[in-house]
Amino acid sequence: VNQRANLIVGHAHELVTCRGPSTGVRGEFALNQLETIADGAVAVVGHEIVAVGSTDRVLADWHAEEYVDARGRLLSPGFVDPHSHLLFSGARYAEYEARVTERARPGIDSGIRYSVNRTRSASDQELVDQAIADLDRMLAHGTTTLEAKTGYGLDASSELRLLRLTAGLRHAIEIAPTFLALHVPPASLSGGRQRFIDQIIEALPEASRFAEYCDVTADPIGFTPDECLQVGEKARALGMRIRVHADQTGDGDGARVAAQLRASGADHLDFTSDQGFRLMAEAGTVATLLPGVTYHMCEMTSRIREGNLVEAEKPFMPLVAKRAIRAGGIVALSTDYNPGTSPTPSMQAVMQLAARLYRLSYAEIWHMCTLNSAVALDRGHDRGSLEVGKRADLLLWNVATHGMAINRFGYNMVDRVWIAGREACRSGATIGRLVM
Ligand SMILES: [Zn+2]
Repeated sequence: VNQRANLIVGHAHELVTCRGPSTGVRGEFALNQLETIADGAVAVVGHEIVAVGSTDRVLADWHAEEYVDARGRLLSPGFVDPHSHLLFSGARYAEYEARVTERARPGIDSGIRYSVNRTRSASDQELVDQAIADLDRMLAHGTTTLEAKTGYGLDASSELRLLRLTAGLRHAIEIAPTFLALHVPPASLSGGRQRFIDQIIEALPEASRFAEYCDVTADPIGFTPDECLQVGEKARALGMRIRVHADQTGDGDGARVAAQLRASGADHLDFTSDQGFRLMAEAGTVATLLPGVTYHMCEMTSRIREGNLVEAEKPFMPLVAKRAIRAGGIVALSTDYNPGTSPTPSMQAVMQLAARLYRLSYAEIWHMCTLNSAVALDRGHDRGSLEVGKRADLLLWNVATHGMAINRFGYNMVDRVWIAGREACRSGATIGRLVM
């Protein structure tokens, strides 16, 4: 029987499936088993993968309307990026130079509040145009599904505005919109902290119309466990699933909060305890690590203060990653794309940083950027790996092996991207915007 497929990509030098349980790949042993197929092929009908295997076997069963020759190249699943702050205005390069040189630059507007002021005063069109340009860059680097959270509004009505704009974006990349209900406390809390929490809770029914997720920040510079639980429980009751910014600047009990809320993911986790990682593993909450932040903020680098060397400000992240894995948790990776602490749109950069900064293996990194990050977005059943029945999100690379994609760094190695069976990007250009 020779059936007709819409698309076959065949004769790939190496096909990496990233196959695993739809609930995620856990444990050191399983994370280090990465399935690869030499001379591999994928057949697609409509938006779905119908065959994966050696090219001989796939071509014995299928013929294609469109055949793409992948000789000499790597074929992989698309990346799922489970943490971004997509909508914002204003660049933060001036404060960044002051940070890396340790030279105070008085008068520079900086921090989240700078981004909040710029974002609030930007027009809807400016925010959307910038987001589309960023989505094009993410796509060119291989991202096919993206979580996008608000967060630069801070007060309830500004956050709802960003959420509506996010939910209204149209792009080849599928976007999971998140209402970042609790990010950092606003500068002026007229009426006090509880009044602020109450206002956020009042906005949740409206937010639940547009958002898949509600996000809360359980961190010493964010909100208390009790405040996060108040908001998170209400959001859950409205049908939203939960994400948590946890333990970034200290142990804010964020991992426990995430587990208690049965969060889909908890992210950062620099200061999470072993007990916290265990609770998350038991709850099925994905632990998402963000090496772009570690790198950009120089968090593992010693500093010079008044002529003296001072220790790095954060724990040694290779050890944190190991503890998360050994607790039995589902570990994922993400860009945390945002203007302040991780201005990279590229999951390739994240892979490359995860090896260099977190000392993870190639196999671990591939699982963490595909299937495990799909689980962080509750999509492990239909994407994140090249398997029959899954969405045909494919990357065709300019390198031959999955190891080369991590060993090399500093340039874009993805050549072609298909999302749900349709070609979305070729040679860095989004299809459909080629002639503009
Ligand atoms: Zn974030």
